[in-house]
Amino acid sequence: MTPNKKNLQPLVITNNEDIKYAIPQSAVFLDRDGVIIEEQPNYLRSEDAINYIPGSIQAIKDINDHNIPIIVVTNQSAVGRKIISLDQATLLNKIIMKEIENRGGKITAIYMCYHHPKDNCPCRKPSPMMPFLAKKQLNLDLGESYFIGDTLKDMETATAAQLKSILVLTGHGQGEYKTLDATKRSEYTIATDLLDATHKIFA
Ligand SMILES: [Zn+2]
Repeated sequence: MTPNKKNLQPLVITNNEDIKYAIPQSAVFLDRDGVIIEEQPNYLRSEDAINYIPGSIQAIKDINDHNIPIIVVTNQSAVGRKIISLDQATLLNKIIMKEIENRGGKITAIYMCYHHPKDNCPCRKPSPMMPFLAKKQLNLDLGESYFIGDTLKDMETATAAQLKSILVLTGHGQGEYKTLDATKRSEYTIATDLLDATHKIFA
């Protein structure tokens, strides 16, 4: 049976807080793998494979210090591909949120598309659905918000959601950057990593 794509939804993971801002709030959207934690060759499947990219937690704290919420928007098709269960994927996200919190940072919410690409779900990036859903649920001002990612798919998501974007050279970033010709490169804001991207936002 073909799944009805309208019924497919991303999973939203929060710190049990029901946040909706009174006035539209600017935010920083982050991809997870290759931006906050290191990209794993065959998906993040276990807690011991979580490796924070140097400076990423500091960057999160810097964003927090500006009173700007951080929303993580991640594709985790490992669930749809039956490599890990939805419970495992949820737990790994909660562990990441908790560890960042223990180190003084805060992620307000994680929006996760866990579907298989063939599911034709409405949420999988480069669809802007997850930023749009966060905008609606939290009352965010997307035009005043950033999306930081390591893939051109992330940049496409940002453009579709009318977010400002920064391509980081961690994760897939370096490889993605190399595929662009010189004129195309000039269309992107590039940062070496998340900490550098943060410096560019608050420069
Ligand atoms: Zn999805």
